[in-house]
Amino acid sequence: MMFEDRFSPNKANFACCQCRLAFRQDVSMPYHAVDGSQSVRCPKCSQPMHNMGVGFVIPRSKDAKQWHKIELLVQHDFSFELLPA
Ligand SMILES: [Zn+2]
Repeated sequence: MMFEDRFSPNKANFACCQCRLAFRQDVSMPYHAVDGSQSVRCPKCSQPMHNMGVGFVIPRSKDAKQWHKIELLVQHDFSFELLPA
């Protein structure tokens, strides 16, 4: 699933479910490969981080319930950009 310029986001949220780490990353520069895989990597486990889109609200690291939800969504290639803000 690719996102075009529809939302023209400059900063998207990237998340690592394993580390429960997320931050905003400037995406105005090329950052992903043609197949959509991100080269943004988790600073902790160096796994590719998942692009959660611009409207994503980063949960607290202690919020296990919320992170579990995110994990499931990531597994199903869900993006928060599909949700109304
Ligand atoms: Zn990680």
